[in-house]
Amino acid sequence: MENELSDNEIFRKARALMPDVVEDLKHLIRYRSVAFPGYPSEPVKAMADATVEVLKQYGLQDVHLIDIPGGYPVVYGEIQAPLGAPTIMMYAHYDVQPAQREDGWDTDPWMPLEKGGRIYGRGAADDKSGIMITAASLKIFGGKPPVGIKVLIEGEEETTGHLEEFITSHPEFFKCDVFIIVDNGNLSVGDPAIITILRGEVSCIIDVQTLDHAVHSGSFGGAAPDALVSLIRILATLHDARGDVAVKGLRSDTIGNMEYREEIYRQNAGLLEGVDLIGTGPLSSRLWSKPSVTVIGIDAPSISTASNILIPRASAKISMRISPDADPHRELHLLMDHLRAVAPWNVHIEVREVSDNSGFICPTDGSGFATASRALETAFKKPIRKIGAGGSIPLLRILHNAVPKAEFILWGAQDTSYSRIHGTDESVDIHELERVIVAQSLFLQYLKKGR
Ligand SMILES: [Zn+2]
Repeated sequence: MENELSDNEIFRKARALMPDVVEDLKHLIRYRSVAFPGYPSEPVKAMADATVEVLKQYGLQDVHLIDIPGGYPVVYGEIQAPLGAPTIMMYAHYDVQPAQREDGWDTDPWMPLEKGGRIYGRGAADDKSGIMITAASLKIFGGKPPVGIKVLIEGEEETTGHLEEFITSHPEFFKCDVFIIVDNGNLSVGDPAIITILRGEVSCIIDVQTLDHAVHSGSFGGAAPDALVSLIRILATLHDARGDVAVKGLRSDTIGNMEYREEIYRQNAGLLEGVDLIGTGPLSSRLWSKPSVTVIGIDAPSISTASNILIPRASAKISMRISPDADPHRELHLLMDHLRAVAPWNVHIEVREVSDNSGFICPTDGSGFATASRALETAFKKPIRKIGAGGSIPLLRILHNAVPKAEFILWGAQDTSYSRIHGTDESVDIHELERVIVAQSLFLQYLKKGR
């Protein structure tokens, strides 16, 4: 019977399946499924169809597209739970970040390349690997897994999504015992981790204006403030001298027992020799539970067009990561109030909201979490760690509200060391992919036994 497998059989079947998994992942990488506004929709739709095809081949018979008003469809499929068995919803996404060779890629981002045990290409890790992990864990059971399965592959994770309303109006559709979010990974290859906290993210734009029009800096400089220097003074108040965020009143959690070694972090970040780390407190809390603030864009004249003038207006976009359980609206307004309060010289400023996304804390005291930990530990043959993750996934909060009793397991094959998700030369490690496929399959098997 397919739906009762020993650990060894699962290891063996995953190994045998890997050549197909590698080929099919390469196939999916070729689709330029960028769902950002302004990008062509055909490749995104073609990718949705290709995802349906792959899942079907791997044993998910009842899989189809569901239209999401105003957005790209989700790929959805179901396998009924055997009597008394729990139901698991597996989540991944088929859209990717934009990429072009000129960004600094060594090779064409849309032409998969296998090198040194890794597969390179946009989406290789984030999150086409998640699609393949999901598909492969079903194939291992011959399409007849020991538990009920729902598969949800979203098409708008990397951009403004339209799924929220669908979830809120169809909560029964998402009913399950455990969500597996396969859109994450370990800090380093071979070092198994489950993500249990995610910070939220808020952002705003500040416009500074000081003059009606540009004027000659020789004739006017020295008395009238220019907008760019004013903006720089404002932005310089976001951190204190030690590099901690200086916005007053923000929620700031410290978390214990999560380990992230400084040398690993330095290596993962590509921090240059001799550059200091900023902020205080344990590295894990600076990265996963305390706020951090970044200026992500400035509109001002570029050096190539610079002339000797007082600049009349300048703008900056500011993004702030917030504590996992902070109220994003409150934190965003504290940031915006701070910007208004510190503006020097009565310059004219306007601050606009851009985004406010909640973080998430996964409860770790349920039986699903214990079972997932055991599966991951067995697959990697190493004790697991609990870690935080960088990206916020707003969907988690919405799914949690729709199905409050369900547990969340966040893992995947996107390692922090080399995967470079959202960056150039994105890649996934083939052995890591195999280990996560084993873990996900063991999880399904153990869940059945555990009940
Ligand atoms: Zn992702």
